[in-house]
Amino acid sequence: MTASSMEELVSLCKRRGFIFKSNDIYGGIKGLYDYGPMGVELKNNLKQAWWKSMVYERDDVEGLDASILSAPVVLQQSGHEDTFTDPLVDCKSCKSRWRADQLIDNTCPECKSNDLTDPRPFNLMFKTAIGPVDDGSSFAYLRPETCQQIFTNFKNITDSTSRVVPFGIAQIGKAFRNEITPRNFIFRVREFEQMELEFFVKPGSDDEWHKYWVDKRIKWWEAQGVSKKNLFPVDVEQNELSHYSKATVDIMYEFPHGKEELEGIANRTDFDLGSHTKNQKDYNISSDVKKNDHSTTKLGVQNLEEKTSYIPYVIEPSAGVDRGLLAVLNEAYTIEALENGKSRTVLKLKPHLSPIKAAVIPLKKNNEEIVMKAKTLKNELQNLGMGRVIFENSGNIGKNYRRHDEIGTPICITVDFETLEDNSVTVRDRDSMSQERVLVKDLSQYYQKYFIK
Ligand code: ATP
Repeated sequence: MTASSMEELVSLCKRRGFIFKSNDIYGGIKGLYDYGPMGVELKNNLKQAWWKSMVYERDDVEGLDASILSAPVVLQQSGHEDTFTDPLVDCKSCKSRWRADQLIDNTCPECKSNDLTDPRPFNLMFKTAIGPVDDGSSFAYLRPETCQQIFTNFKNITDSTSRVVPFGIAQIGKAFRNEITPRNFIFRVREFEQMELEFFVKPGSDDEWHKYWVDKRIKWWEAQGVSKKNLFPVDVEQNELSHYSKATVDIMYEFPHGKEELEGIANRTDFDLGSHTKNQKDYNISSDVKKNDHSTTKLGVQNLEEKTSYIPYVIEPSAGVDRGLLAVLNEAYTIEALENGKSRTVLKLKPHLSPIKAAVIPLKKNNEEIVMKAKTLKNELQNLGMGRVIFENSGNIGKNYRRHDEIGTPICITVDFETLEDNSVTVRDRDSMSQERVLVKDLSQYYQKYFIK
């Protein structure tokens, strides 16, 4: 099941501490959101799942955590300074695109229509001053995508790890875009996170690797609970490709507001390393790179068979953490009719993504023995390292179940008087709502089975 509207998700996210409007007590700023106690756990779990699949489960990918502030020259060479500048408008009639400051009487030069979109400065990059004097002489960009520092670190990583092509570099981190019309909750925001892999391959093997990564990424989204029927891989039309791309497949997802991009998988050719390398003339670079007079480092690699050096091609699966989280929440959101005529809201998250892995609830809050036992169990389960386990000492049991259904906790464990006699606890399963007695000595194994599939 999915949510029937974005409002349902927004409301649950606020009520249960997943996502809040940023700067809210001062009226907020559009396009910025804060992740609350449940949101930060869900987000970390999603990122962890990506990292596991991209780095730990492979033997051909290394990780990186590079700086957000980027030297302007990096974004000049990447093409961002050029392609992200002027205010643009689109003509809604003939679909042509113009610089707003070059129009006469706000009229489309092609078809003379006045039906134009609002001007959108194409420079989506945020700038900030570096150093104590803000006179414009020294500034940095807040990176608009995480990948550029992967390219600038290419030689550092190959030198320090002895990796040879094909191999990849993975990074998760913040990216910033001055979106003119942020909208649809956390779908289009100004500050977001990306999970990006740059996978370097030999030219000629790029089409095959591109296909490999598209398949792999769709399967990964499915493993996060996103149903296949809501995922749509779409080949981006040639005339809509980014300046660096030979081919891009966008994985579209049926969000509550419509079908839009969740992840893009691009064949970036040799554009990036070719743009950032020193001595470009030494290589047979196939893409239309920007001349580079600044780089201090050659980024080519050896072709050992042919005894030549070349600039590798790059396949890039680039996913948004926030959009991913929205998709995962949407898929998990379920309203179920109960036998008593009422209904319950339950987040049927995959257990590895659940913000809280288990809640341990003492049935009598004022019975010291029961409370102590519950605390001990909480600590034991916590030490198994699956994620956050909480000791739940507030509200009645019914309220606790309702809250944990709504935040997607896979199991609730109740410690009661019987526990003190027979050393067993009641375990309630989120999805089936069934309850069973489990011996405390078997609890660790029982609990871990939820997460190790
Ligand atoms: P869109 O066409 O929706 O603006 P894009 O093609 O510009 O997206 P990419 O540059 O390919 O996006 O960025 C890779 C991923 O980063 C996207 O698939 C998306 O998940 C995420 N992303 C990009 N822009 C935003 C944004 N403003 N807010 C949230 N996530 C974003």
